[in-house]
This record gives sequence, C-alpha cells and structure tokens, in this order.
Amino acid sequence: MALFSTMNLDDKKNNQKDITEISEHIQVLIIGSGPAGYTASLYASRANLKAVIYQGMQAGGQLMETTEVENFPGYPEGVTGPVLMQDIQKQTERFGTDIRWGEVTAVDFSQKPYTVVIDNEKKVSADAIIIATGASARYLGLESEERLKGGGVSGCATCDGFFYKDKVVAVVGGGDTAAEEALYLATIAKKVHLLVRKPAMRASKIMQERVLQNPKIDVLFEHNTVEVLGDKTVSGVRVVKRKGEADEKIYDIPIDGFFLAIGHKPNSDVFKEYIETDKVGYIVTQGKTSKTNVPGVFACGDVQDSTYRQAITAAGSGCMAALDAERYLSEMEFNKQ
Ligand code: NAP
Repeated sequence: MALFSTMNLDDKKNNQKDITEISEHIQVLIIGSGPAGYTASLYASRANLKAVIYQGMQAGGQLMETTEVENFPGYPEGVTGPVLMQDIQKQTERFGTDIRWGEVTAVDFSQKPYTVVIDNEKKVSADAIIIATGASARYLGLESEERLKGGGVSGCATCDGFFYKDKVVAVVGGGDTAAEEALYLATIAKKVHLLVRKPAMRASKIMQERVLQNPKIDVLFEHNTVEVLGDKTVSGVRVVKRKGEADEKIYDIPIDGFFLAIGHKPNSDVFKEYIETDKVGYIVTQGKTSKTNVPGVFACGDVQDSTYRQAITAAGSGCMAALDAERYLSEMEFNKQ
C-alpha cells in the first residue's frame, strides 16, 4: 500500500501515524463545508445517497469570515456569511447528511476503496469522494508578519476587527476582499490605510467607489509593505512608495493592526500525491465536469476554481460534483451486476 501523503503543516507532519484499520465505509465522503461542500451534500442526500461531510478546519468555510453577502440569489435584502452557511447547513441536514467535525490529514487514492485519515486518528474508506476544501488567506511571507501573527497581524478583518475600536489599521490588497475588509474596518477603527501595490485597484467599480468615498479610508496607491513593525504587537508598517522609480520613498506609518487581503491559496496539499493540480495548486477538473484524474474523486468550489471564486459558483459546482458522483456510483453498481 502506498504511503499516505501528509499535509504541509508541521504539526500535522510530526503527528502523522500509520493507521491501518479502516473503521468505517462511507458511500459519498465530502471533504469541506463551504457552499460547495454543503450543496454537494444537499444534492447527494436528496438523491438518497449516504453522504458524510467532514467539515475541516473552518466549519462553514470562508463565508464565515464575511460580513454582508449581497449577491447570493434568494436574499433580496442581503445576508451575512454565517447566516447563509447556517441556512445551507440546515437545508442539507433536512435530507439526512451526516455532518462531522474533523480534518483530513492524509489520503490514499492508489487503490479502491480509497481511504482518508481524519485528524491523524481514524481511517475511513469511501466509494466516491468530493473534495470541497476551498482556499485560505495568503500572507506576504515577511518574517515580521509571521512573528506578529496573533499580535496584530491578521488575515481576517471580520474575525479580528472588533479589537481595533478607534485604532489605526492597514489593509493590504486591491481586490474586492481588500475593499470589503477596509469598509468593514472603517466601521470600527479610527483610520484605515489601504495599501494597494499598483496605481489602480482591481476591485469591482461599486466597491472602489465605496472605498474612495469613505472619509476614514486613506487609499495609498503604489505602496508595498517592507516590514511590519513592532516587538510583541504591531506598532507600525514600513512601506515603500513607487518602488524602483526615481521618486521612490520609504517611510513608516504608525498602526495598531495589519490585515492581509491579497487573495487565497487552494487547500489541496493533502491530495497532491494523487490528484493533478495546476502550478498554483488548484485541482484540475476535466472539461465541464467535476471529475479529477482519479475516477470516483471529484472536486468543486474554490479548490478547483481560480477564475470565479464566488459563493454561488462554488454552490453550483457542488451540485455538479454530487451529480457526477451519483452517475459514477450508478455505473459502479451496474458494472457489479
Ligand atoms: P484578488 O481579486 O485576487 O485580489 C488580490 C489583490 O491582492 C490584488 O489587488 C493584488 O494586487 C493584491 N496582491 C496580491 N499579492 C500581493 C502582494 N504580494 N502584495 C500586495 N498586494 C498583493 O483576491 P480577492 O480580493 O480575495 O478576491 C477573490 C475573488 O473573490 C474575486 O473574484 C473577487 O471579485 C471575489 N470577491 C467578491 C466579493 C463580493 O462580491 N462581495 C467579496 C470578496 C471577494 P494586483 O491587483 O496588483 O495583482
């Protein structure tokens, strides 16, 4: 039997055990609990398949960190991310989906039945597997940023913004997430410096307008972060303005909190030994389907979508994965006869 591939996290690696006993067989195993995973389970359970979800590190996925969602159809007044996820969870539970805590720490897709290890503790096998592990916030990779994580450096304004009442914060990024986080922080903090590396933002027009019109937000175009300042907690950020130009300027901005909003990394590391990914790590799916290179293993949501990355497209692809899994399982049954 092939060795299990391990997650890229040191603590997971150090704790890796060789678990041989399969404690349970699952018909459709869904890994991840964002809109993709929950929609996949809704369709699978409603089609009378026995679906089990392992929720992963962040139950409910990235939407649990979002404030207002205004573009998910069916909510004319908008809805908060956590309420939306609660609603989808309730809907799938209604059809019998078994939702469990737990994170996948290793997999073996080298032979059937495919097996998956949960929390380094328990091994289960499955007839069909749907990967819906989403993506996680990216960081700049600075030593100072790593050191000050938990001391004022954060990848989630809605999680940590609360601590910055009447304080000064910086947000890095120029996309919709950065705009959304800056606007959210502006409702709490005294001042928000938005550090945009290019001369323009890439956020949607409406979000750009909201940011530019907010008197508490100071948009600093062509600014890159050199270092986050502070010993145990953030006290400032060293920035470079117009890097490499004749008028390049390096200076410090006093801040209390430093928020990253520079995109996400697909959570595919644990599957990489078996599942084909692109160079960034997005799982490659075949044509207009959710099929991966391993028959019976499907992928949906942000872990396989570098283009659209919306809650609604994730939900749609979750539906596709469940339908693909259903067809795969009926063919499997048919071939047994
Ligand atoms: P994104 O659109 O990929 O934007 C990432 C931003 O971070 C870009 O402005 C990029 O700069 C900047 N960036 C990347 N690396 C950087 C670095 N090392 N230093 C400084 N800046 C850096 O990511 P996103 O904002 O997370 O959005 C992802 C997707 O979700 C998008 O499709 C977005 O529309 C969608 N979204 C939608 C909503 C909504 O509709 N309510 C909310 C949030 C997100 P450059 O522009 O220079 O590359």
